[in-house]
Amino acid sequence: MEVKSGKSVCYGVTDVLDIKIIKTDVSEVVCRCVNDGEIEVIRYQNARDAVAKELEELYIKAKAEIGEKDAGIFKAHVLMLYDEVYNDSIENKIREQKINAEYAVESAKNELVRMFDAIDDELIKARSLDIKDISTRIINMLIPDGTGQCDVDKPVIIAAYELTPSMMLRMNKENMRGLVMQSGTANSHAAILARSMGIPTLINVKIDEEWDGKNGVVDAINGRLYIEPDNETKDMLADIKNCMINEMQVCKEQESKSAVTKDGRIMNIYANISNRQEADAALANGAEGIGLFRTEFLYIEREGYPTEEEQFEVYKYIADRLGEKKVVIRTFDIGADKPAGCFGLSKEINPALGLRGIRLALERKEVFKTQLRAILRAAIYGNLAVMFPMVTSKNEVQEAKRILYEAECELKAKGIPYADVKVGVMIETPAAVIMSDELAKLVDFFSIGTNDLAQYTLAADRQNERLTEYDAHHPAVLRMIEIAAKSAHEAGIKISVCGELASDEAMVEMFLRMGIDEISVSPIMIPSIRKAVRSI
Ligand code: PEP
Ligand code: MG
Repeated sequence: MEVKSGKSVCYGVTDVLDIKIIKTDVSEVVCRCVNDGEIEVIRYQNARDAVAKELEELYIKAKAEIGEKDAGIFKAHVLMLYDEVYNDSIENKIREQKINAEYAVESAKNELVRMFDAIDDELIKARSLDIKDISTRIINMLIPDGTGQCDVDKPVIIAAYELTPSMMLRMNKENMRGLVMQSGTANSHAAILARSMGIPTLINVKIDEEWDGKNGVVDAINGRLYIEPDNETKDMLADIKNCMINEMQVCKEQESKSAVTKDGRIMNIYANISNRQEADAALANGAEGIGLFRTEFLYIEREGYPTEEEQFEVYKYIADRLGEKKVVIRTFDIGADKPAGCFGLSKEINPALGLRGIRLALERKEVFKTQLRAILRAAIYGNLAVMFPMVTSKNEVQEAKRILYEAECELKAKGIPYADVKVGVMIETPAAVIMSDELAKLVDFFSIGTNDLAQYTLAADRQNERLTEYDAHHPAVLRMIEIAAKSAHEAGIKISVCGELASDEAMVEMFLRMGIDEISVSPIMIPSIRKAVRSI
């Protein structure tokens, strides 16, 4: 038996399951000379054809799961695999330079990507992502080390150096029962997604590829990964799991009770979600509403922007499910560690300080307006509010509200029914805190994003596992929250906390003291936070 320690970012204990290693490090493609270029070309063509077959199969699977339109990306990639320019470039390199196929693919890819990225056309730029994708698939076929493969067909514990949000989305979540990552932080989006899915997760665990196929247990209560646990350990883990289930039961029994302190102060508890299923989980855990719907995940891992109709369906579903309960829809917060290929964004040296959140929305006005129209239309079916991310100035809020107004006028002119929505902003930059007295006059509510507020206040990348002690508990961040709460109350609007700090039971008392009106956490955290409120 081997035991590894890690940091728990989503509590829980898994069953004894196989460990599946997902290789996320791109193996270095080495240049080799070959004697016979023709044989190498055939090796390339065979790999390309095998990738095409794989993509056809993926297309059929995706069509059944996510519909024909979204699955279309796999069909488009098959066509690109046989693109003449792409193939000529690779085959000529092999023949003329007598180099190995994988190196030829890698260098053709780099040339094409450089060429596409230099053209000032968003659609062409987006093509460079496709080229990267298909080339990686061919290289993986030629050097079969399993890099980036993440399909699992039975319940497993996933272990990876790191996972991007898009890899998480690609994975079959039903079968991902535990997650162990070497890098990442509690506030990285992969960890946030794992938490919102309620998957026991550890980070900062040194991954060993030898574990692949061995059985293991994630004990994300005590921060341990057991590889091939002995019987005594299995019994001990089963006891921990039973205790946890009993405790959850106790918490759940309080579900119908409101989150009120002993002296009668109310702290409404909402859920953070990123898809429809999580809306169901939020209700199952007794959420009083949705405090943060991270809509950017509707834009990630797809070829084109989601249409107004597609978005309308998702927002309507959630509005219907939640009924009278409030649902705060945050407009897309794309950028930084949540890139979305459909935006065709060029690489930034410092993406966390780049074109992100509201900045991107104001640059892509039509895409933004499409989302706003979908929200306004869905608002008929429930109690929806809209919230803008990454705000730093009054101008941004005024401009975003102006576009919202345009969206309303367009719907009105076409006779399409819609309902008004309340407007809020995320307070997640120091600038927004400093300007909070002015911003409060422009909106109906504030929500504090402590993950980004800590990152930008403390100048500490939220993804950097060496900086985890620079977190939202820092007094500078707490003072910022207090300032924003004061501004909100002076203007007569409500303020909530929706960053990960809200999941810390020990913070509830301080939030109450600061006058925070609501908190919003992953669905799985709701029962324990409610219990914490009721114990004060
Ligand atoms: C935050 O920054 O705290 C937040 C809630 O937004 P996200 O984690 O999606 O950036
Ligand atoms: Mg944020």
